Amino acid sequence: MQAYQEQYLKEMGIELWVDRDKKVSNVVEEIAANNTSVITKAEPVNKQAHVFPEELARLKQEVSVCEKCELHETRTQTVFGIGHPEADWLIIGEAPGADEDRQGEPFVGRAGQLLNSMLLAMGLQREQVFIANILKCRPPNNRDPKPEEVLACESYLRQQIDLIKPKIVLAVGRIAAQNLLKVDTPIGKMRGNKYQYPDSELPVVVTYHPAYLLRSPREKRKVWEDLKIAMRLYKEL
Ligand code: URA
Ligand code: SF4
Repeated sequence: MQAYQEQYLKEMGIELWVDRDKKVSNVVEEIAANNTSVITKAEPVNKQAHVFPEELARLKQEVSVCEKCELHETRTQTVFGIGHPEADWLIIGEAPGADEDRQGEPFVGRAGQLLNSMLLAMGLQREQVFIANILKCRPPNNRDPKPEEVLACESYLRQQIDLIKPKIVLAVGRIAAQNLLKVDTPIGKMRGNKYQYPDSELPVVVTYHPAYLLRSPREKRKVWEDLKIAMRLYKEL
C-alpha cells in the first residue's frame, strides 16, 4: 500500500487496522479490485490533458460570456469545469463558491481539498477525472440555486456530458443530485442506489457534499461506502 493513499484514507475517516493474522485491512485490495484505473504514483498526470479539444474549448468560450440568467451580473468569472476531456469519471457539484469564482476553477477551496482526498482514496487523481458544477456562476452569498438558474444552465452540462462521454457520474451533495436526476428525494434516501442520467444510460451515484463532511466528519464513513459502490459499478461497466 502506498503511504500517500493511507493518508487519504485516513482523511476520509477510514482507519486501517492489522488483524490477528497480521493482515492489513482489505481496504486497499478492495480499491485495487474495484478500480481498473488505480494510480501508482501521487504525481500529477500529463497536464496536456487540460488542453481541451476544439468543441469543448468552444463550449467553454460560449459559457464564459453567457448571460442566460441573473447570476452573470454578480459573477467574477464563469467556472466551466476542469479535468481530462475524455474522463471516465465526471464529478458534479453544486455551483462555484467564493474561491472558485475568484480562480475560475471548481472545487479549489476547503471542500475541494476534501474532494481531492475522496478521489485519491478511490485511486483517482484530480487530473484524471472531469469536475463540473450544476451552475457555472456563483450564486451571491452562496445561496441555493434558483430553479430558473438551473434550467438556464442545464444545456451546458448536457453538452459537456455529450462531449466528454464519461462512463460514470458522481453527484456530490443534495443540490447536484436532485437537480441532475429531477427528484426531490432527501439525499440520505438517495445514497446507495444506482441512478441514470435522464434520457441516457449513464450511471449516476450520489453521495454527500465534501463541504457537509467538513461540518459532519462522522459521515465520511457513509461517503466511503458510496464511493465503493461507485468503484464497483465502474468496474462492472
Ligand atoms: N462546492 C461546489 O459544489 N462546487 C464547487 O466548485 C465548489 C464548492
Ligand atoms: Fe449562464 Fe449558467 Fe452563468 Fe446562468 S449560471 S449566467 S446560465 S453560465
